[in-house]
Amino acid sequence: MKTLFVTSEKDPRETRVALTPSDAQKLAKLGWEIHVESGAGAKAGFIDEDYAEAGAKIADAKFASEADFVAGVRKPSVEDVAKLKKGSFHLSLLDPFNEKATIKAFAEAGVTAASFEMIPRSTIAQKMDVLSSQANLAGYYSVVKAASTINRIIPMMMTPAGTISPLKFFIVGVGVAGLQAIATAKRMGARVEAFDTRPVVEEQVKSLGAKFVKIDLGETGQTEQGYAKELTPEQIEKQRKGMAKVCAQADVIITTAKLFGRKAPRIITEEMVAGMKRGSVIVDLAVESGGNVAGSEPGETVITPNGVTIIGDTCLEAHVPATASQMYGSNVYNFIEHFTKDGEFHVDMEDPIMKSCIVARGGQITDERFM
Ligand code: NAD
Repeated sequence: MKTLFVTSEKDPRETRVALTPSDAQKLAKLGWEIHVESGAGAKAGFIDEDYAEAGAKIADAKFASEADFVAGVRKPSVEDVAKLKKGSFHLSLLDPFNEKATIKAFAEAGVTAASFEMIPRSTIAQKMDVLSSQANLAGYYSVVKAASTINRIIPMMMTPAGTISPLKFFIVGVGVAGLQAIATAKRMGARVEAFDTRPVVEEQVKSLGAKFVKIDLGETGQTEQGYAKELTPEQIEKQRKGMAKVCAQADVIITTAKLFGRKAPRIITEEMVAGMKRGSVIVDLAVESGGNVAGSEPGETVITPNGVTIIGDTCLEAHVPATASQMYGSNVYNFIEHFTKDGEFHVDMEDPIMKSCIVARGGQITDERFM
């Protein structure tokens, strides 16, 4: 393998780029010839000249059909997949549970496709774990977004004009995004409470100085990969009842509760939203996979009749594109570096990381969940 092509993102909402100039330079040292589609990094603040200075060549979209390796952020269209070189390697967020036609197109084109979100959550793979690097930023930005939407300040202030009480934040779902949301809200001076169905999270919540809301749901547990298991309808009902009072008192609710590969649980009902204070804000990070909150809409900000703002931003990390691209690009670099031996990139299907993220290879779809 020799040539790597960084595509520009076709979705107009996307601001990130798959590789920064500094990672392009590092990859060149590994023996890669880097080609970057003109304008690919512009929205993230990296212009063509920056890439050229880092030793990359500026190309147009057609170069995708010549490259040995194509890296992107979002999945390419089926038409673009058909143009890729047979035997080449593709890496991006392919969303394989929902985008089966794209996976089929990769198999038909004879391209080896790696779905970046399928990298396992193991210690060795952390450096290439794009779900974590981006969820971390989404968690951070959810607090920034709530802070800039709500009509009050977050921290406590004692002034001659009176004492201002700190805002109350409630974080539902304490994975990577939730933990960062707690840490960011604490730094801004909020009073923070949090809940997750995985009991192991309680200690992490407390270590960040937040309060863990205890709700007895019976057996919940987690999968081998550390993901939450789906609750029964009875457990969900118990959870809603246990959370109703905390929601009614919260100024800001941030929900991040997801179930890997499945629809997100609907946790906050219409009734719970109706019970919230006028002017309070909800940010639903699970909105794209079904939403945790009744009334949240992908890509929309909704104001309910009782004056609650529900933010359904589907890609909060895209608001900090320079940092998000820096982290994404670093994940891409680490992935390639990890599988480069003696100057050659190897697709080792025996390797647990590679095996877990490859969705198409040699004309076949390699994971039956995506057929
Ligand atoms: P995720 O995005 O799949 O879900 C977010 C959170 O929502 C999770 O904490 C989950 O337990 C929670 N959730 C699900 N249903 C819920 C409900 N009904 N109510 C409240 N909360 C609910 O999770 P993630 O951030 O991708 O993290 C998944 C796991 O992977 C975690 O255990 C995390 O610690 C682990 N992880 C490990 C590594 C590593 O070892 N390299 C890296 C990243 C994450």
